[in-house]
Amino acid sequence: MPEIKALVSGAGIAGPALAYWLARYGAQVTVVESATARRTGGQLIDIRGCGRGVIARAGLAEAVRAARTRADGLSFVDAHGRRQASVRADGFGGDGPVTETEILRGALVEILHEATGGSAEYVFGDRISALDDRRDGVHVDFEKSAPRRFDVVVGADGLHSGVRDLAFGPGGGSLCHLGHYLSFWTARNTLGLCDWTEVYSEPGRTIGARAVNGNTQLMAFLSFRSAPFRYDPRDSTALKTVVRSRAAGMRWHADELIAQLEDTADFYFDACSQVALPHWSSGRIALVGDAAFCASPLSGHGTTIALVGAYVLAGELARAQGDVVAGLRAYEERLRPWISRVQRFGQGSGKTMTPRTPAGIAFRRAVVALQERLPLGGLLLRDQIRLSNGFALPDYTSYERTRP
Ligand SMILES: Cc1cc2nc3c(=O)[nH]c(=O)nc-3n(C[C@H](O)[C@H](O)[C@H](O)COP(=O)(O)OP(=O)(O)OC[C@H]3O[C@@H](n4cnc5c(N)ncnc54)[C@H](O)[C@@H]3O)c2cc1C
Repeated sequence: MPEIKALVSGAGIAGPALAYWLARYGAQVTVVESATARRTGGQLIDIRGCGRGVIARAGLAEAVRAARTRADGLSFVDAHGRRQASVRADGFGGDGPVTETEILRGALVEILHEATGGSAEYVFGDRISALDDRRDGVHVDFEKSAPRRFDVVVGADGLHSGVRDLAFGPGGGSLCHLGHYLSFWTARNTLGLCDWTEVYSEPGRTIGARAVNGNTQLMAFLSFRSAPFRYDPRDSTALKTVVRSRAAGMRWHADELIAQLEDTADFYFDACSQVALPHWSSGRIALVGDAAFCASPLSGHGTTIALVGAYVLAGELARAQGDVVAGLRAYEERLRPWISRVQRFGQGSGKTMTPRTPAGIAFRRAVVALQERLPLGGLLLRDQIRLSNGFALPDYTSYERTRP
């Protein structure tokens, strides 16, 4: 494509992935990230079906395979720690409830940053403060850097996207609370788990732990049902207090996991929300990843749709040969039907993770036990597996200029 100048806001997963593909098609790419350095925090994320396809096309399959966390399966346990029903990772072609490719978010961020190496300019510790989409391009003001002009600006700045607010209005009516909150934190492996996850539920709340980092640590997590409440996403002290109070009185190993919140190296808290926008772009300004179409962290598809979104957005811009607006429209036309299906799936995922009643918990246990025992148990998860593989990746190789 003609050498367009692209600005990407956000250096999480979607941002560097987009920078990678845009550079490969010959664009000049700048990535601006509000954090002062790479945000390598976060816990395990899944790369499913077509997301693995994008990683393979980028030539990163080996790096991702080497960095992935071994996860053999998951058990639902009772208050005494007795395993009541289990799912194995290898049971469903790698795309079941426990996926074949689970990787610490930080490891994937590092791999994507390394891959963009010298081919994209990264500006840390700054953010976009104003966008003016004119005939000659988008004029961008930054909080710290001097103003610049770009042919296209893409917000890959997550669930609470700043670009979305600037381009579509604050809030934009686009954040839809799904009735759950989710927190992850790192803990010592005091449970002795070995490549395995244990999950314990009481009505309206679920706590669990997954062995990570060669079984030396746990990724602990709490999910709870709640009506929306206001919180400051940067105030981790206040958010840890929320997690402690919501887990208070839970049985199993809840107390020992919660006790480790105090000095955890890594803590994540967010609402399970979806982003529902009528359009993912306005003129030369577009959104991708959680900023455009977050499906809920409990959908298990957030990283997959971010990777596929970045691949299609860059590819359609390349195909449009400089007609940025047409490229952005084509990106949405191609991708939206599949993303809508993923979002519909995401709406129900919190309910499965955190049933409301004792009967709901018993029902989930019975379904999982059935999957374990029936030779064709995969049929029960057929729709989820099809969904992960439900988008045929277009081929954009003819537009490639370089391999970063
Ligand atoms: C620190 C962190 C930890 C996470 N941990 C988990 C986890 O444990 N489990 C899970 O399922 N999901 C987690 N997520 C979310 C998960 O990464 C995403 O749902 C998914 O991978 C889609 O990625 P994304 O690139 O669209 O968004 P994100 O990964 O959220 O990346 C967005 C990036 O944009 C940056 N940003 C935000 N606002 C601005 C702004 N105004 N200007 C410039 N940059 C901005 C952020 O600092 C971040 O680097 C985490 C996200 C973050 C940021």
